[in-house]
Amino acid sequence: MPKTITIALTGNPNSGKTTIFNNLTGARQKVGNWGGVTVEMKKGLCRHGDYSIRVVDLPGTYSLTAYSIEEIIARNYIVEERPDVVVDVIDASNLERNLYLATQLIELDVKLIFVLNMADVAKNRGFRIDAETLGRLLGVPVVFTVGTRNEGTKEVLDKVVQVYEDSDTNSRNIYVHYGREIEEEIVKIQNLLNCDAKIDRSYSPRWLSVKLLENDPEVRKTLQQKQCLDEKLVKQVNQSCEHLKSIFKDDPESVITERRYGFISGALRETMKSPPWDRRYLSDQIDKILTNRLLGFPLFFFFIWLMFKFTFDLGNYPMEWIDQGVVALQSWVRWVIPSGLFRDLLVEGILSGVGSVLVFLPNIFILFFCIAIFEDTGYMARAAFIMDKIMHSMGLHGKSFIPMIMGFGCTVPAIMATRTLESRRDRFLTILLLPLISCSARLPVYILLAGAFFHRHAGNVIFSIYILGIVLVLLLGQIFKRVLFPGQAEPFVLELPPYRMPTLKGLVIHMWERGSLFLKKMGTVILVGAVIVWFLSTFPRQNPAEHDVRGAVSRGEVSSPGSEVIQPLSYLEKIGYTLEPLVTPLGFDWRHSVALLTGFVAKEVIISTMGVLYHVKDANEESESLRQAIRSSMTPLTAYALMAFVLIYTPCLATVAAIRRETGSWRWAHFSVGVSLLLAWAVAFVIYRAGQGLGFS
Ligand code: GDP
Ligand code: MG
Repeated sequence: MPKTITIALTGNPNSGKTTIFNNLTGARQKVGNWGGVTVEMKKGLCRHGDYSIRVVDLPGTYSLTAYSIEEIIARNYIVEERPDVVVDVIDASNLERNLYLATQLIELDVKLIFVLNMADVAKNRGFRIDAETLGRLLGVPVVFTVGTRNEGTKEVLDKVVQVYEDSDTNSRNIYVHYGREIEEEIVKIQNLLNCDAKIDRSYSPRWLSVKLLENDPEVRKTLQQKQCLDEKLVKQVNQSCEHLKSIFKDDPESVITERRYGFISGALRETMKSPPWDRRYLSDQIDKILTNRLLGFPLFFFFIWLMFKFTFDLGNYPMEWIDQGVVALQSWVRWVIPSGLFRDLLVEGILSGVGSVLVFLPNIFILFFCIAIFEDTGYMARAAFIMDKIMHSMGLHGKSFIPMIMGFGCTVPAIMATRTLESRRDRFLTILLLPLISCSARLPVYILLAGAFFHRHAGNVIFSIYILGIVLVLLLGQIFKRVLFPGQAEPFVLELPPYRMPTLKGLVIHMWERGSLFLKKMGTVILVGAVIVWFLSTFPRQNPAEHDVRGAVSRGEVSSPGSEVIQPLSYLEKIGYTLEPLVTPLGFDWRHSVALLTGFVAKEVIISTMGVLYHVKDANEESESLRQAIRSSMTPLTAYALMAFVLIYTPCLATVAAIRRETGSWRWAHFSVGVSLLLAWAVAFVIYRAGQGLGFS
């Protein structure tokens, strides 16, 4: 009669658990589900010498806290079903991270084996691991395997039998030492637990104590069910937690986690040699600075600021060349084509409209190049990490930050990127906040206005608009979270891939992928928009000869009864004047109301609208660029208020469609448009009035 041993396979996702399971059991396996949940459970059987070994494949987890259903299943199985031996499958090429789970298994006081799988990968990457010493330090035997080549399977089974029979010399119970203060509290709690006979033998009292300090809800529940959570114990736990909080200025859970990592670092210092060029190691060094608690955030802001500075300053040079090119082209067309409607359409409609947007092409491409640098180096993932705390204040987490960063490029793909967020609440909240992240289509408007009015400080002014957007995201996030989606965000691991040196080719490809969308827009939406705006601004007209003076008709002249020239208003002017009362309180005139209206289609159309509107007026002054033209009709204050308005109101029709698609209802799309319009108006109003109050004009 063979002896039966039950072993449980644990390990991080992708450590090769299933591969090892298949190596051990061959075809003899059964697939089912864990009771009541849709997490897969696999069981298998194998023979090894005189032993019959039953293998259970537990769900892959990074830790044994109670955050996910996988963690709870794995933990409860080990603690309650008590397998004879737990086999932890560890990715040897990513030892430090995988050992986090290992330290928690050590604490469970179970018979353990560490299988260092992916030994081939670790070796190729130049890691040298002293398994013998590591096993002695941790008190757990260590076996190397290469799952894909079925190497080490027999050694694993040999060790299982040895550990089961208590004949392995390395096996002993060790503890992670949490430092004097925490250890003292552990002992206090443990003493209260020990004297309670009702507690199952299977629970290690030390483990229970640590879990209580970590405020683990599952353990609390279990103790309650077993009626072990008496008043005295609860009081002690609370006292201990408060005490530790006051010492560390941080919750005990974080400190305990830190200590575990400290333990791992210590164990690895003795037993693992990383290659000097190891990317992981270098990454860690860089991360010490870039994700530093104090430095991380200011550095992140500095990089973003640098990005805009770069985008604006460097983009200025090609901008002037393109501007001059467009003006030259306009003169040339005027020269070769006889005057008439068609020439006007070409020069004042298409060339003015599209040309005024075209000049911002270099800026857009530089911005996308910078974003590509963030992405390709791996800094973007850090940004999510750095922003995690702040995102939590909005009831979101760092992962939502990635769509938000993408939102600086274009809101539409950013809204689609929210699909990676698991919970509906996170997705909707992110989707509603995304339009406030200033997309690149809004950048030309800022560059035009800031360039015209703020000269040397233009870069900083634009940066301040972006910051305004972020501040509004934070505020609205707070409000939406409370009003629309009350509840907690679910925690999870943020991956930190190693830093990489980006390649120029990769950067250019990424820049092009996104920038070319902008070019395409130029040939479609913006072109059509410019033609429509030109049409509306030109018609109706009675006499082409009067055209040139008509543009000079200002609002005052039109309404004044003594006016000499009585002109029919163009459609555009009619629309503008109709809407004007809505924007007068913000210091805007009819032209701005028209520009904001056309801006609903896409933000670049604002520029082409202005291009058409202002060039009508300055039709004869060939060398006037748009920037100089608008300076005559606005003040720095109204320009800033206009920039804020453009920042806040709905980015474009495509965004509205995307919100409708991703939320599955028009209600959210309408809500988003309504809220953003109201907010835009209110903020522009406050800026304008406050600015006036402070003596700006
Ligand atoms: P699980 O998520 O832990 O179940 O991991 P899997 O068993 O599904 O393995 C994840 C991936 O790693 C698969 O593509 C395996 O083929 C591969 N893999 C598993 N073990 C090894 C190994 O020792 N060396 C290498 N190079 N790849 C492995
Ligand atoms: Mg698997």
